[in-house]
Amino acid sequence: MLTKSSTELVRQRNSVLVLAALRRHGALAHTQLSDFTALSSATISAITADLEKAEVIEKSEQQAASGRGRPRVQFRQRRDCGYLIVVIISSDGVQYSLVDYAGTLIDRFSEERSHDPDGATQFVVAVREGLERILSRSRIARDKIMLISISSKGLVSSNEAVLMWSPIFGSDRIDFEAVLRPDWPTKIILDNETLLVAAALGAREEANNPDGLRSLTALSLGHSIGLGIVRKTGPGEREISAPNFGHMLHVAGGGLCRCGSRGCIEAYAGFYAILRMAFEVPLDTIPAKFVPVSELDKIAARARQGHRMSAFAFRQAGVALGNGLSRLLSLTERMPVAITGQGTRYYDLLRQGIEEGLAQSHMVRMEGMPELRIVFDEQLLVFEGHLNRALSVIDSDIVQAGLG
Ligand SMILES: [Zn+2]
Repeated sequence: MLTKSSTELVRQRNSVLVLAALRRHGALAHTQLSDFTALSSATISAITADLEKAEVIEKSEQQAASGRGRPRVQFRQRRDCGYLIVVIISSDGVQYSLVDYAGTLIDRFSEERSHDPDGATQFVVAVREGLERILSRSRIARDKIMLISISSKGLVSSNEAVLMWSPIFGSDRIDFEAVLRPDWPTKIILDNETLLVAAALGAREEANNPDGLRSLTALSLGHSIGLGIVRKTGPGEREISAPNFGHMLHVAGGGLCRCGSRGCIEAYAGFYAILRMAFEVPLDTIPAKFVPVSELDKIAARARQGHRMSAFAFRQAGVALGNGLSRLLSLTERMPVAITGQGTRYYDLLRQGIEEGLAQSHMVRMEGMPELRIVFDEQLLVFEGHLNRALSVIDSDIVQAGLG
């Protein structure tokens, strides 16, 4: 029996390799699958036959460009093998997307969230309704939904779908598994939003240059400050994490933060903190729940015209970010920093402070400035990160459940 189960494990691992290669490269022919996975031709034949029989992948025939000779047979994921719902929670709304097993977007809508103190209980009701809505619009059977993948800013439990703390609901915990389980038998996962951005950037980087990626950090600037780190651990394998960067200490006993502590990085670099500083509001003032981007745009316009206090507010935000990054990089390693989020529109005002904050550390004086780059399409990256994570979870679940 032991022999049989270890054979089965090898077969499962090889099946996951095949599915992962199809995810990374799109439709592939038999020999390409063998090349990319380093598995023998006979193993590829056995695995693709099983996956095809289980209706997980399908064959397509493509006529050669010359129009002569035998058509080329390629394998790819079957779109109707199952479906995934992506739920992106942001400070002003929730976006629902329905995606098929091949990664194609089928339906999407967003719902605004009111900024009244509606609390977690009402929010959960709205999410349950949103999920029902996307399911009924699609006319897909409930049991064809293989996974619900949720993201939010804030602190996420590392092993359960529990939002421990978030800028929106504070310490009102939301256990998504518990609240959605009555309606949904499917698997539910929850990730920090900037962790998904880092995951997507890591995947893009490795696709462009397989030997280039070592590690990378994503820094998201906005109402709150998010950070994700991606590290390559092997070919096609990456480790991702989202340390609680925004609430790391910047100044002991400093400005009041939304988390209730004093002196966090966010209490100097979040949108509310920039607003508070620009208007010279006392630092112990309870931070605004939500600051529209248009308000920040006005402060930025004044700063660009030379208004001293407005310019100082951005510079100080930059210094807090730069100091925080220098501490982070001193503890980890020197790596490129990809800056993303709504705050990138003020990068011209933040940059000097960020570089100043970084330059104060021994690590930067010794090794030089880390590469700073701006990445504009945060929303797209969050979605890409969801697909990367969720589809690989689905692939390994399918294989582990047995292919029948
Ligand atoms: Zn804080």
